[in-house]
Amino acid sequence: MYDFTYHRPDSVTHAAGLIANREAKLLAGGMSLLPSLKLRLARYSDLVDLKSIQGLRGVTRDGGTLIIGALTQHAVVAASDIVRQAIPALAVLAGGIGDPLVRNRGTIGGSIANADPAADYPSSLLGLGATVITQEREIPGDDFFKGLFETALTPGEIITAVRFPIPERAGYVKLPHPASRFAMVGVFVAKTADGVRVAVTGAGASAFRFRDAERALGANFSPVALSKIAIDPAGLNSDIHASAEYRAHAIGVLTKRAVAAAIAA
Ligand SMILES: Cc1cc2nc3c(=O)[nH]c(=O)nc-3n(C[C@H](O)[C@H](O)[C@H](O)COP(=O)(O)OP(=O)(O)OC[C@H]3O[C@@H](n4cnc5c(N)ncnc54)[C@H](O)[C@@H]3O)c2cc1C
Repeated sequence: MYDFTYHRPDSVTHAAGLIANREAKLLAGGMSLLPSLKLRLARYSDLVDLKSIQGLRGVTRDGGTLIIGALTQHAVVAASDIVRQAIPALAVLAGGIGDPLVRNRGTIGGSIANADPAADYPSSLLGLGATVITQEREIPGDDFFKGLFETALTPGEIITAVRFPIPERAGYVKLPHPASRFAMVGVFVAKTADGVRVAVTGAGASAFRFRDAERALGANFSPVALSKIAIDPAGLNSDIHASAEYRAHAIGVLTKRAVAAAIAA
C-alpha cells in the first residue's frame, strides 16, 4: 500500500471539501477499495473515511418509498424488519452478498459507486426504479450506471442515500460465483402499478433492463409468459466462468425463477 493521509470528517460538507482538488478517494466499508490499495493497483494522496458522518446509516420508510442511507451495511439491510416487510426481495439480495465479513462492512453506497458488473445492488436500482441521492442532486437509477465500473457520479459527489419505490411484488435470484458469491448472473423482477421491470446484473458491462421480458410479464405476470422470450448472447460477458451463451440461457431461467419468487413472496 502506498502512503496516504487519512481523514475522518463528521459531515458531508466537510468530506466534500476534503476530496475537492486532491487525488483523494472516499472510503466506506473498504471491501473493494482496500484490496486495490493493498495490491498497489491504485494510489491516492488522501482517503476520506465516511464512517463518522451522522445520518448516512439506516433504513426508513416514508409512505410508498424505502430510503436506505449510503453507509448502511448489507447485513443491516438483510436483517431490517422494514426492508423485509416492504421489499423482501431487497433483503434477500443483501443477505446473499459475499460472506459475513463483506456483509458487515460493505455498504450500499460503496457497492453502487463501485459499479462492479457482477454486483447485486445495481439490479435492484434498475429493477425497482430507484433514485440515487447525493449532496448535490437526485439521479434516476436508470441513468446511474454508465459502464464497467463507471457511474454518473461527478468528481466530489457523495452518495447520501438510495430511495426505492415499494413495488406490489418483487423477486431476486442469482447464480452466485462459488467463491466470491458475486453474481455470474442475477435477475431482479418487480411488479408495480405502472408495469413490470426486469433488470439483469453480471451479464453485461453494467446492469441492464430486459425489455422483452418486461413486455411479456406486463401482459401476464407468470413464468409461463417467458416461455418464448430469449436474450441474444451477442455482447454479453464471456469469461472463464461462463460463456455469453451460458449467461443468456441463465438469464432466461433466472428471470422465470425471479417471477416465481415474486409471486410466492
Ligand atoms: C470477497 C468479497 C466478496 C464480495 N461479494 C459480493 C457479492 O456477492 N455481491 C456484491 O454485490 N458485492 C460483493 N462484494 C463487494 C461488496 O459488496 C462491497 O459492497 C463493495 O465492495 C463496496 O462497498 P464498500 O462499502 O466496501 O465500499 P469501498 O470499498 O469503501 O468503496 C468502493 C468505492 O465506492 C466509493 N464510495 C464509497 N462510498 C461512497 C459514497 N457514499 N459516495 C460516493 N462514492 C462512494 C469509494 O470511493 C470507492 O471508489 C464482495 C467483496 C469482497 C471483498
